Amino acid sequence: MIVGLTGGIGSGKSTICAMFADLGVPTTKADEISRQILETDASVFKQIIDKFGPEYLTATQKIDRAKLRNRIFNNPQDRIWLEQILHPLIMQQIASYAANIHYPYCVIEIPLLLESKFECAVDQILVVDSSTQLQVERAASRDNTTPEEIHKIMHTQLTREERMQSKAMFLENNTDLASLKKQVSDLHHQYLALASAKNI
Ligand code: ADP
Repeated sequence: MIVGLTGGIGSGKSTICAMFADLGVPTTKADEISRQILETDASVFKQIIDKFGPEYLTATQKIDRAKLRNRIFNNPQDRIWLEQILHPLIMQQIASYAANIHYPYCVIEIPLLLESKFECAVDQILVVDSSTQLQVERAASRDNTTPEEIHKIMHTQLTREERMQSKAMFLENNTDLASLKKQVSDLHHQYLALASAKNI
């Protein structure tokens, strides 16, 4: 069973993913899968350099992901073009990751799960929600950046209200880490039960 974990920037996805991993659950991240594809897929490499030019290469002839991220952040058409190439490959990798685990379920962190129609790639959606103020404070302090930069990123994501309308399980991350850990542990038991029911 694949649990897709999503939420806005700074909501606590990575922290929660690490808590599931501590419980022995296999976890991975769409961002990591995407990084691997950019580094290893020769066809993707060629398409990107053909479109954007060799100035998108690093000194070691790899795709300059920071530059690419900046380009698509500021250019929606390029973002859509790149997503059309990467998303089907990411979905394939998610399926193959899940097919190879020896555990009742896995957790995959997918920041844009609801924005990018990844629903069909997962069996369960887990949305983490925290107040906008906490999101901005936590993300700005983690990334050593300004609240304005975090707000800019938040504008490219669904709002909390939009996310709350999805058919998902929800997890609130508005207090301390101990409370978060307790919620993760409760969900873990629910997922084990759901996964075993799914296999009957
Ligand atoms: P995301 O992956 O959703 O962007 P993170 O899990 O990286 O968010 O959390 C953002 C920052 O907030 C991290 O530095 C993390 O350690 C911190 N954080 C997350 N949840 C809590 C919490 N409940 N209490 C205190 N700090 C938290």
